[in-house]
Amino acid sequence: MSIFKSGVMNLNINSAVAYLTFKKLDEYGFLRHAFSTRLGGVSTGKFRSMNLSLDRGDKAENVQENYRLFCRAAGFDLNSLVIPKFVHGNNIGVARRENKGSGGFNLSDFPDTDGLVTNQPGITLVTSHADCPVVFVLDPGKRAIGLLHAGWRGTVKKICERCVKKMTVEFGCNPGDLICCIGPAIGKCCFEVGDEVLKGIKEVDFIDLKDVVAQRENKYYVDLCEINSKILVNCGVKKENIILSDVCTMCNRELLFSHRATKGERGGMLAMMEIKEMV
Ligand SMILES: [Zn+2]
Repeated sequence: MSIFKSGVMNLNINSAVAYLTFKKLDEYGFLRHAFSTRLGGVSTGKFRSMNLSLDRGDKAENVQENYRLFCRAAGFDLNSLVIPKFVHGNNIGVARRENKGSGGFNLSDFPDTDGLVTNQPGITLVTSHADCPVVFVLDPGKRAIGLLHAGWRGTVKKICERCVKKMTVEFGCNPGDLICCIGPAIGKCCFEVGDEVLKGIKEVDFIDLKDVVAQRENKYYVDLCEINSKILVNCGVKKENIILSDVCTMCNRELLFSHRATKGERGGMLAMMEIKEMV
């Protein structure tokens, strides 16, 4: 495997389980967050080895064991997870104590939901990924968090703006106080798109296509993380408070699951984030 290199993320290894964290978010002691990698699980073949997707044909007992291994290594309580059922939309749910344990192996309290927010400690927000950007949102002062699955459809449906508005209404957050960390995701190096995606981006009125789309040999490559960043800035988040991951899932296919790199023959990764319960 190529050596992991990032200016903004750490590769953490605990009991052979490797996971990524943002250096910026690691600064906050009351916060726990992680993005899984392929390393340290028990699944085999195309799911090798830390597959955390239940619905891609892997053995349920292997996925269950991977959940246990990942949560133990990254410090999360399996019973505190809240896992929405994403649909590449822009609905945001408010996760509360009564939702703990929903989703994953159980029915989810949040069908049709690509993002969750909370300001209650001890609740682990979870999103599922394999090229689609994750967005970690933190209000350090209010101790409120949001976690988003922002594929291209959710991105152009401005899921980031929906999240900022939700956190403003629910928790009294000020957009200027938010810290947003975006990715890992398929990068502008690899995300070749067709007309449908370009048309979707054009519908975001304040975005200039030339700022987020590169043309190389008559092919078009899109920077999804940058689009999300511009949407966040447009709704009041400070540019200096937005950190874009420099880790591309497709370029790092041994470390991360990439839908494109494997033509869909793959497992899935999870992002998790919680405000720690003070004991
Ligand atoms: Zn790439």
